[in-house]
Amino acid sequence: MNFARPILAVFLLAPLSATENADRQLARDLFQQLIEINTTLSAGSTTQAAEAMAKRLLDAGFPAADVKVLGPNQSRGNLVVRVHGTNAASKAVLIICHLDVVEARRSDWTTDPFQFVEKDGYFYGRGTQDVKDNDAALVADLIRLRREGWLPDRDLIVALTADEEGGRSNGVDWLLRNHRDLMDAAYALNPDGGGVTSVKGKVVNVDVEASEKLYQDYEFSATNPGGHSSLPEPDNAIYHVADALGKVEKFTFPLELNAITRTYFERRAPLESRQTKDDMNAILHTPPDAAAAARLSQDPRYNSTLRTTCVATRISGGHANNALPQLAQANVNCRILPGHSPDEIRTRLAAIINDPKVTIRYVSDAGDASERPPARRSFPPVMPSPEILKPLERVAAEMWPGAPVIPDMETGASDSIYTIAAGIPTYGVSGMAIDQDDVRAHGKDERIRVAAFYNGVEFYYRYLKALLGGGK
Ligand SMILES: [Zn+2]
Repeated sequence: MNFARPILAVFLLAPLSATENADRQLARDLFQQLIEINTTLSAGSTTQAAEAMAKRLLDAGFPAADVKVLGPNQSRGNLVVRVHGTNAASKAVLIICHLDVVEARRSDWTTDPFQFVEKDGYFYGRGTQDVKDNDAALVADLIRLRREGWLPDRDLIVALTADEEGGRSNGVDWLLRNHRDLMDAAYALNPDGGGVTSVKGKVVNVDVEASEKLYQDYEFSATNPGGHSSLPEPDNAIYHVADALGKVEKFTFPLELNAITRTYFERRAPLESRQTKDDMNAILHTPPDAAAAARLSQDPRYNSTLRTTCVATRISGGHANNALPQLAQANVNCRILPGHSPDEIRTRLAAIINDPKVTIRYVSDAGDASERPPARRSFPPVMPSPEILKPLERVAAEMWPGAPVIPDMETGASDSIYTIAAGIPTYGVSGMAIDQDDVRAHGKDERIRVAAFYNGVEFYYRYLKALLGGGK
């Protein structure tokens, strides 16, 4: 093991009691079981994974009435479990965590992605980072907390769900629409966001996802009567769309900081090397230093944190090599800063391309293009309340002394968009440490350090007790 931080090594190397060993073994068994149940969209079943975890909970003594497997069809089931709290008057706390994983081909991987392999201090398998590590941790912790007789000060709901990575049966969305009573909560936690960043196994910071960009696709299209390609005319559908994309390429949305990203750069700066540190501090000035912003924006991660982005992701057009195109289409994918709306960005795009021949339409998650803006809302971000942050900072300080807790904005998208849209504030909190140069979610040979997994399991156990009281 390669732990530069001695305190962490001590924590990990302290001899474990028989009970602690049994708890670790259970977490490992659950992790293995989940990795080896294929939950991809193409060939897998989240129902099978949900039922396997339900059985574990029932075997551990959870009442059948509090453990439910529900879903819109045979293969896209979700697990919802409720732990009853001492104060029925307080609204519940919800944890959402997806069970499905991204496709993985055996031929692309060194090991079988659906076999749980321990090798060189890592666990390998599809979902070891995204996000079966946390599914396993939550089930293991619920079982441990029940054995210890723990009673939270309010109801705790854990929902392990389908179709976060794709598909038409998103579990969080489906549960909120069809079983709101089972999901209703004061706020939600989502381990798929946030998390612990390490360098060669040494923890450097703990991120809490406190805001999320809004995902929106736009279809650019141009039509034309077409004709014989031996008689070209200036008015050409492909040229119209290509010119429009060229203008989008050259356009940069203005820099904009909010409560979360401002705090993110403030707390991130001391961890960075000289130039990046100075640049992060310089963009916090009013007005932000333009040269510093330009340098930071060269890093796609910081660029996407500083502004709305729109990028061409697909293109098609024409119907024959010897015909003038009658139709050209492109998809432009935007990640919109919170506080801005899809129709505002559409208006902006129309002004940028300034070509009445190009039509811009909204594309739904199901892939349908429409003139009507989506109902999706995007709230201006607020800092997480001390109720959530304080216990997190306390547990983080116990487990990873010196590593700051940094609120951040998810630049991608997670299931939090559904809970947020349902009026349930949602925060990404995870204790699984991933090396910053070893992010393999969705990729080949996905893996997590063995020690990081066990620490992540321990983290949620401690965080739940810190958040919801340690009463018996
Ligand atoms: Zn995920």
